[in-house]
Amino acid sequence: MSVYIPVELQKLIRNHFANCCAYCHTAESLTVTTFEFEHIIPRSSAGETIFENLCLSCPSCNRYKASRQTALDPITQQEAPLFHPHLQLWGDHFVWNEDGTEIIALTSVGRATISALKMNRSQLTRVRRMWVKLGEHPPDT
Ligand SMILES: [Zn+2]
Repeated sequence: MSVYIPVELQKLIRNHFANCCAYCHTAESLTVTTFEFEHIIPRSSAGETIFENLCLSCPSCNRYKASRQTALDPITQQEAPLFHPHLQLWGDHFVWNEDGTEIIALTSVGRATISALKMNRSQLTRVRRMWVKLGEHPPDT
């Protein structure tokens, strides 16, 4: 269910995340989709519709994240918190591989998030390869 987000707040969020998905860092301008405003703490868990709890998300990351706040770390097999785009720095938890097509986790949070949001699914790595050839990826966010 969608919720009304004031236009000014939408602009602030878009600017803060440089029109990229806060999770997989895909640039909206490279896609044919409209990115969405994602409640980091879901509304079902009393997450508020405020700047600090909203991020820009590609539709895919938003769908896979859904109302989750944690996910299984595939290495430790323990539940780990998902990446929080406002409270944590992307570069503390993720790094691009050498050719810019895959996101490598640096932490348990990173591993859980990559796994839960399927941030390296094959369709995405294929299209990232094309974006790299065009000099449009990875974004310097
Ligand atoms: Zn994404």
